[in-house]
Amino acid sequence: MRIGIHVSIAGGMKKAAARAVSLGCETMQIFSRSPRGGAARPLTEHDVQDMHRILQEADIRPLVVHAPYFLNAAAKEKATWRAAVEIISQELQRAATLQAAYLVIHCGHNEDAEQGLVRTQTAVMEAFTVADVSGVALLLENAAGMGNEIGFRFRELGALCHSLRKESLPVGLCLDSCHAFVADYDFTVPEGWQNMLNEVEEYCGWETVKLIHVNDAVGKAGSRFDRHAALGKGEIGGKGFKNLFSHPVLGQLPAVLETPRKSEQDDQENLEFLRRLRQEIRKGRHH
Ligand SMILES: [Zn+2]
Ligand SMILES: [Zn+2]
Repeated sequence: MRIGIHVSIAGGMKKAAARAVSLGCETMQIFSRSPRGGAARPLTEHDVQDMHRILQEADIRPLVVHAPYFLNAAAKEKATWRAAVEIISQELQRAATLQAAYLVIHCGHNEDAEQGLVRTQTAVMEAFTVADVSGVALLLENAAGMGNEIGFRFRELGALCHSLRKESLPVGLCLDSCHAFVADYDFTVPEGWQNMLNEVEEYCGWETVKLIHVNDAVGKAGSRFDRHAALGKGEIGGKGFKNLFSHPVLGQLPAVLETPRKSEQDDQENLEFLRRLRQEIRKGRHH
């Protein structure tokens, strides 16, 4: 389990890498552009090379790019859907330039979930055709199920993932702990934990899960309220995370925090929480 956090790219990619180093990260996630809109700033070769040198020296890997929030690949409206295809293809190219291993996207939202799943599937296929890149895998992130979000049940997320893999596309899953919990996979209690394991195994398959987003939840299990909390300070708490990271597959995956931050100290505290938990689990195995 490599532990890292989503870091800001303010000031460029080199600065982002330096932030990750100073936080003691072993992996890191970034946006390649502003997550809320506007044109993407071109990546400069110099900045990207500097970033790489820093990441390599500090052995920070994998590098993960998160696509911006505003795109909706599941959109009913053609113009919105086309814009999503355009941005996903650009992000695939930018991720390839950055030599990122993964690009994480949200499945999107649509009143008609079935239509939404088909739209997202075709959007991803189209984006890969346009981008024409290699080396980057696209990860579909499980949603909280807020509003008309699709992809919050492992059944539909797994089906979407498998239909894309059938097209020989490099697609996998990113499991967000806050989203799973508020989508009613209450892994803090034995029945909920077992149910989640069963569904991931049956509908997704463990080999498709590549990354964990580690966030505590402000909302209760089943609330579908998507707001992240600091680790140990939300409804999930230590026991839930202990379940997750004691698991033979989940406990081996790169783990990226997306916890709220007012200052660097918040990041330090959340990283420390997760490092302590990892230590505790390792010790427990030896006894
Ligand atoms: Zn996300
Ligand atoms: Zn997430």
